Amino acid sequence: MRLILLGPPGSGKGTQAQRLVHRHGIVQLSTGEMLRAAAAAGTPVGLQAKEIMANGGLVPDEVVVGIIADRIEEPDAKKGFILDGFPRTVPQAEALDELLRKKHLKLDAVVELRVNESALLARVEKRAEETRARGEEVRLDDTPEVLTKRLAQYRSLTEPLIHYYSERRKLLTVDGMMTIEHVTREINRILTALGALEPKEHEEPESASKASRTAKKTAKRTTRKAAESASLAAKPARKAAKGASKPASKVKAAKKAAKKTAKQPARKTVKKAARRAARAANARKGAKGSKKAHEKAS
Ligand code: AMP
Repeated sequence: MRLILLGPPGSGKGTQAQRLVHRHGIVQLSTGEMLRAAAAAGTPVGLQAKEIMANGGLVPDEVVVGIIADRIEEPDAKKGFILDGFPRTVPQAEALDELLRKKHLKLDAVVELRVNESALLARVEKRAEETRARGEEVRLDDTPEVLTKRLAQYRSLTEPLIHYYSERRKLLTVDGMMTIEHVTREINRILTALGALEPKEHEEPESASKASRTAKKTAKRTTRKAAESASLAAKPARKAAKGASKPASKVKAAKKAAKKTAKQPARKTVKKAARRAARAANARKGAKGSKKAHEKAS
């Protein structure tokens, strides 16, 4: 599985990436972490990046693209990876596309964690507090002033990626304001619907785009109830996605089942509406009849 987590600073990308790593045994590639490690080690790249990071700027595209290009060649990235904090600009995304294309690898999905900006400062302050409590060094860029700059960078340079990946039908949006547990569950559900959690790395499930559309719709729902019904809605898509690895007849059957289930709510609504209309017509008839009778009587 190859996945990108997209979201502003404090949206929970790192937390969710770690949870996915833990559950699926694939590596988390965080350019921020790599740059911080390089800065701590005092490498030329690290020293160049350190100041930029402390000021809330972005490290040049060619630097981070170079880091990622090397990193995905490592044996532990063969099974898949979660990109956290990369790409952050359209040129980085284009470079990644090119890297993957050359290696005949496919990107499974881009999960955008959507959050209210007003909550980010509190989250970043909490992260700093927790780091301090653990006796670790607090990130230089986890301050209100630098966060404001990082958010501005996100809006102008990273947010265009939402459109970039949405156009390529890779984008799935999750409500990042839910609890950590809920967000994880939602991401896992989406990835299952896409078939991304199955070990067929080079195959595109026949109904992946359908599953993606269903997952996208459902991911946007925020209430618990909506999430539950969304889970049902994703079922046919999951079935169809699974069917992609089965013989043609089974794929057909899975597709038929998915279509049938997808149509059901609409059909039910139509039936209900028809019944309601019939009842109303009867009531009107009755009313007319009694009016006539009344007129006759008078
Ligand atoms: P993060 O840990 O992802 O919040 O990143 C911390 C800082 O590292 C960012 O504010 C940037 O200065 C730098 N950085 C991380 N990833 C990238 C990237 N893909 N492109 C440019 N700069 C990056």
